[in-house]
Amino acid sequence: MIPRLSPSRIQCLLGLSLLVTASQGLGGTDPAQHSIVPEVENLQPDITLPAPPVPSGDTPRPPDAGPDSSSQTPLPQAENLQLDQPIANMEPAHTAKQEAQEQPVQEITTAETLSPGPRETAKPLRLLGTEVPPATATRLAWSPSQHFEGVYSPTPVLVVNGARPGPVLCLTAAVHGDELNSIETVRRVLYDLNAEHLSGAVIGVPIVNLQGFHRASRYLTDRRDLNRHFPGDPHGSSASRIAHSFFHEVISHCNAVVDLHTGSFYRTNLPQLRGDLSNPKVVQMTKGFGATVVLHSTGAKGTLRRAAVEVGIPTVTLEAGAPMVLDEPSVSHSVKGIRTLLNQLGMVHKFRLWGDPEPVYYNSTWQRATTGGIIFSAVQLGEFIGRGDLLGTVTNPITNVRTEIRSEHNGRILGMALNQVVQPGFAAYHIGIQAPEEQISKPQKVVTEAPAAEQAGVVKPAHTFPTETVPESLNDED
Ligand SMILES: [Zn+2]
Repeated sequence: MIPRLSPSRIQCLLGLSLLVTASQGLGGTDPAQHSIVPEVENLQPDITLPAPPVPSGDTPRPPDAGPDSSSQTPLPQAENLQLDQPIANMEPAHTAKQEAQEQPVQEITTAETLSPGPRETAKPLRLLGTEVPPATATRLAWSPSQHFEGVYSPTPVLVVNGARPGPVLCLTAAVHGDELNSIETVRRVLYDLNAEHLSGAVIGVPIVNLQGFHRASRYLTDRRDLNRHFPGDPHGSSASRIAHSFFHEVISHCNAVVDLHTGSFYRTNLPQLRGDLSNPKVVQMTKGFGATVVLHSTGAKGTLRRAAVEVGIPTVTLEAGAPMVLDEPSVSHSVKGIRTLLNQLGMVHKFRLWGDPEPVYYNSTWQRATTGGIIFSAVQLGEFIGRGDLLGTVTNPITNVRTEIRSEHNGRILGMALNQVVQPGFAAYHIGIQAPEEQISKPQKVVTEAPAAEQAGVVKPAHTFPTETVPESLNDED
């Protein structure tokens, strides 16, 4: 097999200054500290992560499908890099034609290949045509197998493979190219990990949608929303092909995924997790993030989150802030939440547990502008509001007619429009409503063995939450 990416080539491809400016080095905390930090002494990893269900199908295992097969083709070993060190020089990127030859389209449909399951001993992680040995931090690159000739933009994939065994946690950011908080969050988390002191592996993709990022756009260049095309189709639209490539070359290696987002279209979100709370494994995952609001939602069809959950990989969306801006409180909150999750998963021990859990919102609704004009808000993110409270006003700049938007619910502002010009019908305030009933689904330890029915190829639908109780308005999300 032709090595796809030599370390020097990887370096030359990844010239994004954003990815080489580290806030902290790889020097980590002495593991001996564990015993003297009281908060972490009793933190047994209470979330074990799953082998995914086994769909029917007999597609052969691809050569780089997972780390647990010793009989696979040898791959070039990844160089252990100081991820926080700038890359000194640039070599010419290799051509799209080369890339197409080196990276044939792979069909991966068996669940065995979709996720390797937690490893009992630290093993090399085989990913993107490279073998990452234990105790190694490195930078790989993913690019869709099929791309426009001459327009070649590989996306950095940061990998920290720990010295000790454990799950593979994936962090994906900027599936929408204008969601900057998520990029910075993944950068901070990854550059602060020490492979020597990590159990399992963390795969971080700071900019999934590089096309959109370059144009400061939510979308791909063809105006399609990448987050409506997962798990993708190798023969479909451009967006479907990109989604398929990413899902099968990266996501399939994950035992759990955190997909990071912000509000869309000049709206901002209180830091919040979104997950399908009818799925006990997802419920358990949401409990790992410390003091972060949780909102139930199954996720729109085609989202990375929903597609991953449907193949048995617990996935949540972490939303924080607004697109196109970097705001420190949102980034800090997200970093803290993910570090708490790493601790809860038993992957690191140096981060302290964080805060009491925030309320879970099983329902939410959007309050919309009824007229067009300039919207000014009277409320703030996170504020608790009652029915009838003034949320904001919309003033027509031509006629000077002002309309009030008053809350129709008791709840909490989880997301809201920034002050701007809006059209009638614009979703302006996202109100979380605490349902009186107990949670939809009890948390459940995620086991490494798939249920017998799933192993036999009988995969039951994971979602039993009645869809009619999920407000249609949630389609603005993710
Ligand atoms: Zn998004």
